[in-house]
Amino acid sequence: MGIMLLVQIVSIVQLHWNDRRYEVDALVKAEYHKLDAAMEFLQPEWFNSRSEFLMADNLTGLLIANTAGLAIVAAGDIPDASLVPTIVEKGNGNWSMNEPRHADVLWHLQTSQGPMSAIMRVDVNPGIKAAWARTLKRIGYAVVLLLITGLAALWLVNLLVNRYFVRPTAALVNHIETWQDDSIEGQVTPKDACAGAPHLEPLAHTFSSLIAQQKKSNRQVKVKQKYLEFAAHHDPLTHLPNRLMFDDTLKQTVIDARENDSGFAVFLVDLDNFKIFNDQYGHLVGDRMVAEIGNRLRSLMRDSDLVARLDGDEFAVINTSVTERNQAEQVAKRLMEEAQLPFEYRGFTLKIAVTIGISCFPQDVTDEQQQDVTGEEIVNNASVALQEAKSNGKNQYQLFNDSMRSRLTARIRLEQDLKLALQDGQFEVWYQPKININTRKVIGSEALVRWNHPTKGYISPEVFVPVAEEAGMIIELGEWILRTACIDTQSMQSMGFDGLSVAVNISAVQFTDGNLLPMVSSAVKDSSLNPKLLELEITESAVMHDPEDVIKSLHELSRFGMRLAIDDFGTGYSSLAYLKRFPVDTLKIDRAFITDVSSDNDDVAIVEAVLGLGKHFNMKVVAEGVEDEEQLHFLKAQGCDLAQGYFISRPMSFEKYVEWIKCYGPGFQSMLEDELPTNLSGDDDIIGDLFDQVVNQ
Ligand code: C2E
Ligand code: CA
Ligand code: CA
Repeated sequence: MGIMLLVQIVSIVQLHWNDRRYEVDALVKAEYHKLDAAMEFLQPEWFNSRSEFLMADNLTGLLIANTAGLAIVAAGDIPDASLVPTIVEKGNGNWSMNEPRHADVLWHLQTSQGPMSAIMRVDVNPGIKAAWARTLKRIGYAVVLLLITGLAALWLVNLLVNRYFVRPTAALVNHIETWQDDSIEGQVTPKDACAGAPHLEPLAHTFSSLIAQQKKSNRQVKVKQKYLEFAAHHDPLTHLPNRLMFDDTLKQTVIDARENDSGFAVFLVDLDNFKIFNDQYGHLVGDRMVAEIGNRLRSLMRDSDLVARLDGDEFAVINTSVTERNQAEQVAKRLMEEAQLPFEYRGFTLKIAVTIGISCFPQDVTDEQQQDVTGEEIVNNASVALQEAKSNGKNQYQLFNDSMRSRLTARIRLEQDLKLALQDGQFEVWYQPKININTRKVIGSEALVRWNHPTKGYISPEVFVPVAEEAGMIIELGEWILRTACIDTQSMQSMGFDGLSVAVNISAVQFTDGNLLPMVSSAVKDSSLNPKLLELEITESAVMHDPEDVIKSLHELSRFGMRLAIDDFGTGYSSLAYLKRFPVDTLKIDRAFITDVSSDNDDVAIVEAVLGLGKHFNMKVVAEGVEDEEQLHFLKAQGCDLAQGYFISRPMSFEKYVEWIKCYGPGFQSMLEDELPTNLSGDDDIIGDLFDQVVNQ
């Protein structure tokens, strides 16, 4: 409230003050411009005394009016002394002190136009005002001077900056673009770029070298990209396109062929017995041979054909000039001849044969396939043809045909059935006993998978295991087999058959999967089986496929406490050098050598050799596929430790195995005690009797 009142009072006072000031200011300001006009008719005699006028040195305003009331006004500073008229008669000054700083003086004047009145406004405090005016004037001059010199300086600076910096820099920037662009000819040097502005030369040099560095690293990035691109699509050994590029090219070739209504052929070329070649000459020579074959295949084909290396010893060719089967045969013959030519390398004369599988488009794809064929079908066809040629004895070519197609369809169906079988629990684990030949006691069994197909009955693992391996299903299936075998074997321990071991077959695919150790250890842990009672069988060919990797895995498994066996020993061309490094407990002589061991001298030699190896490396040797007494006698005489075969027992379901063991009764002996002296061995006949008894029941 108080504040509002104060604001009101201040505004009233201000209004009043402003009003009064307004009168005077309006008078002075509004008429100032009429001073010249006033001078025209005001006669000098009106102001006859200069001294009087000088008293008005502090004159700040002047109002002159005639009697008619017509006001003619001059006001403000008198601009020019010469214009100042003299006062004719001084009127009665009417000094009013109504303002602190001004006084108004009223004069009556006699003019040529009749009497007039003048009101002069005089500053009451002239000294201060004059001093202020002088100071202001000086400040004004100073400001103007400053402005002028400032502007001049600005102009000069601008001129210099333009001349020595802006323009040379703009020129330099122009040149920098030239340095960046490789395509511009007659490149400018830093010196040229700074002509007329030498002070910029160091800068130009710095830029030039920065750009050079940038260009270099750009080039490196480009080279790297090109290399990576190349590496992603090419094989490092032969520099031929790899599988990725082959797949892409094949897809495009199919599209083109369909559009142009043309054909082509795919050749899969596989080196024969390349593993043996590698073992014989070493990997370095093996690599050179692969590169040489790659070169030869390439040289036989046109540039527009594709020659790729798909795998270690497998090449593929897409030939678009071949549209008929007989042409494909001609090409295959040429490829075979060329590949077989001797290759001189480091003093060796090397020779290798090839096997070729061929599929032609569109002949080898069915009408339904034609609609959305991707290339995969064509490679599959060629691959089936290649397998056929290999199983027919290698060093030959084979064209895909209809009988292969039906086998292929059957196989695809089998694959689909396999998937269902796992879900539906159609698999069983059977057991085949193993005995100590000397003591005739059972030491354990080998677990063998069986597929009880709902319509086809029992299917042999020799048929479905390879399919499950190729389809990747063996990982899941193998885990199930191992877990079942561990659980069954552990449950036999609780039935009182202490120390009976189990051997489980592990596929090469499981070995390379990378998850084998965790899987096996968790299966053993979950079943509470003593790991010493578990033996893992891996085939000799799987071991030799990638020996270094396998050695690592085998050591890990062996550290875990499990036993390891090499299966089908004698068929896989084991290198003795590797055998020494395998932490293997058991060698299993392949069935093929046992069958004729009583009659075939070669087989006798092989069995003796394996037994000798076993002894040397301190490994147990199991003879597989023992079918009669004679074989068993022979093996015993040779010092073979363990035997397994139809003569002892065929594989049987878990329930039957348990029954069998019970019948075997006193002859049963745990593996952990199999170091018993041989004089404790039972009668030779017992085993045959028991075999008949159990099998025929
Ligand atoms: P393998 O590991 O060599 O197994 C021995 C095979 O020889 C078994 O065939 C067995 O029934 C058979 N056999 C045993 N004694 C005799 C005999 O006295 N005479 C003859 N003629 N044969 C005998 P099976 O069970 O048909 O298995 C064949 C192959 O399938 C096995 O050969 C093995 O490579 C594979 N396989 C079997 N079960 C499994 C498994 O659980 N996992 C894996 N990965 N492969 C398995
Ligand atoms: Ca086996
Ligand atoms: Ca075997």
